[in-house]
Amino acid sequence: MVNAVYPGTFDPITNGHIDLVKRASKLFNHITIAIAHNTAKKPLFSLDERINMAQNAMSCYNNVSVIGFDNLLVDFTQAQNSSVILRGLRAVSDFEYEFQLAGMNRSLAADIETVFLTTTEQYAYLSSSLVKEVARLGGDVTKFVPQQVIAEIQKKLG
Ligand code: ADP
Repeated sequence: MVNAVYPGTFDPITNGHIDLVKRASKLFNHITIAIAHNTAKKPLFSLDERINMAQNAMSCYNNVSVIGFDNLLVDFTQAQNSSVILRGLRAVSDFEYEFQLAGMNRSLAADIETVFLTTTEQYAYLSSSLVKEVARLGGDVTKFVPQQVIAEIQKKLG
């Protein structure tokens, strides 16, 4: 039984995140999408809103669940009976931060492995922050996020 925790801000969940989880759901018994409270990043959406959007997007996957967290990631991962932290890599620019994060987490809990999946090429340039930026400026984001997320962004941005 290998369970993975996929942590992130998910502000909001994008088709890039969803594609990653869809692929990972074939590799792991269970995936917990762990949404960080993360006030430092000043998210546009509240934790509950982010959880709600992710839950809706993932409702057809029966081995995926969504939960919020506000403690140390390795502690949370252990509490979920998981030994894997799942992360995505889009470009070389992601690597340095992800490498540092994985190293820190290994030094905190050596029995937890960080596993990376590379992005599907069509989502290589896709990030939550870019989606918000494009939407804010009136661009069409239908290709990048689920329908429900578009409605939520429109509500937020007025
Ligand atoms: P964080 O604030 O932790 O970076 P994000 O929600 O931005 O949270 O991303 C969570 C994880 O998903 C990160 O590992 C990130 O690299 C990965 N990710 C985000 N967008 C994509 C994408 N389009 N393709 C693949 N991985 C992605």
